[in-house]
Amino acid sequence: MIFLKQEVLMKLINFLEFEPLKDIMEKMKIDKDEEIEIERIEKIKIARIWKELSSLSGLDIDINETDSSEKGYIKYKEFDKLVAYIRDQKYNKDGTFFLRKFHIAYNCQILSDARKEGNASRFKIVQNKSPEFLINILSNDAQKIIKSNVKAKLDVCKYCLSTINYKNYSRVGKNEREKIWENFSFEEFLGTEFDKNEELIKSYNLDDIENDKIRLYPENWNEISHNYRNSKKWVCEECGKDCSKNKSELEVHHIDHDPSNSEFYNLKALCRTCHSKIHPHME
Ligand SMILES: [Zn+2]
Ligand SMILES: [Zn+2]
Ligand SMILES: [Zn+2]
Repeated sequence: MIFLKQEVLMKLINFLEFEPLKDIMEKMKIDKDEEIEIERIEKIKIARIWKELSSLSGLDIDINETDSSEKGYIKYKEFDKLVAYIRDQKYNKDGTFFLRKFHIAYNCQILSDARKEGNASRFKIVQNKSPEFLINILSNDAQKIIKSNVKAKLDVCKYCLSTINYKNYSRVGKNEREKIWENFSFEEFLGTEFDKNEELIKSYNLDDIENDKIRLYPENWNEISHNYRNSKKWVCEECGKDCSKNKSELEVHHIDHDPSNSEFYNLKALCRTCHSKIHPHME
């Protein structure tokens, strides 16, 4: 226990009355409020992403913005083990049609080629326990929609299975491989991943995301964010870091901290490091 002499105590009280200190404390309180607000905005943003990710049609995002997780799965923000698939599926030139496979490995040859050829944006990202996907069927020149919003059961890509060596896929014989491919199940692949994400969003305690009165981000925020960063050639406006090879490294900051104002003049493209200096609590 510490005993303070009367005169020391008096000095302390006087110190608290000291004007500059009062100012600092006032400012600290404002920063704290702002921090809580920013944290809440982040949570709403993540919850919205999850809502789209876990819907049947998935999240409309360029797979260039995803990352590889430690085990080689597709990762976006906090969500691991995501699935990439093509929503608009075209007829072949010879008049035949087959359903394109879905992908689970970040470094799958098909996804890598799509990234290199610059047509990675035709992939959508989802996480669902159901093997059904929402697709559109298009003519071979993509000019005509033959059927839209068809629920289709797609198969897993074999390159993916071998890329991540799913259930030892690349080391077993042909018959065994065929069995692993045929019996692929999302329940099994995801394990606890899907439920873990549901729990995470629940823990945010956001009553109803859709009716949340802080509908801060515009509906097409992903598009705005992508276009803005593209207009800056994927370079951090603070330190000049080139993020064009790793696009998710570049984030978009709202200068006035109000995401409802997403006009370009209020935006700033910042790499994760520079962004986290503005919001120190973020990663
Ligand atoms: Zn694949
Ligand atoms: Zn930077
Ligand atoms: Zn920011």
